[in-house]
Amino acid sequence: MAREYAHAYIIEGRSGEERDAYIKNFAKDIICPNTDLSGNACGNCPACIRVSSGTHEDLFFMNQSGKETYKTSDAAAMIERLGMRPYGEHNVGIIDNAERLSEIVQNKLLKTLEEPYPGTVIILATDNKESLLPTVKSRCVELRMHEQTIDTVNSDSIDLLMKEWFGNTYFFKIREVIRKNFKSNEEAFKFLDVLERDLHETLIGGEGLNKNAGNIIQMIDQIEETRINIKRGMNPEYALNSLFLNRNNINKR
Ligand SMILES: [Zn+2]
Repeated sequence: MAREYAHAYIIEGRSGEERDAYIKNFAKDIICPNTDLSGNACGNCPACIRVSSGTHEDLFFMNQSGKETYKTSDAAAMIERLGMRPYGEHNVGIIDNAERLSEIVQNKLLKTLEEPYPGTVIILATDNKESLLPTVKSRCVELRMHEQTIDTVNSDSIDLLMKEWFGNTYFFKIREVIRKNFKSNEEAFKFLDVLERDLHETLIGGEGLNKNAGNIIQMIDQIEETRINIKRGMNPEYALNSLFLNRNNINKR
């Protein structure tokens, strides 16, 4: 099942490997012809591999020809390229370090951000979205990238818990995973960040908007509440257990 995508997204987060990986994964989700039911790329097909290596025909980055900034000609080249029919279903244009877009260049991009060629998705990545004009921001869906280096701490147990969250596992099994793996506040926060990001993406990706938006927003509220409870001194294991119990209540409704 293909996800519906907005014309343009802003990904805010510190530049570096993690943001690069986030952008590529997002591009894969858009381009991969073999996405799963939640719209996640398969990661193994020729399209996914070409996105990884940056050689996919439908994926391109805005070239920065100025030393510190993008030039108007860079934007013009991107707009021209985005006006071409994609080989697959989507053109994906990436503007990395979008804080390097001057007001003039941003204005030049406005029309394309508003009415791109059908199927076009533009991704602006920046460490400071406030450098973008309100007229640009209003045309983009904003995605928040969490900065934690998930891979260094406990990423396996986070994966495991994510699976439990979206599966319908018995609660005793979830409690076991939490007891073994989420003893510190830091670990609990990392899981909550990943979970919230995932729910957020599901919400924005169009997957949940029709039927489940209310539930997802409720879950996000509960995640925020859990975070506050832990900050106030609640035992993280207890807080996560409660969150999972509440999730079950939402699913039953
Ligand atoms: Zn794929």
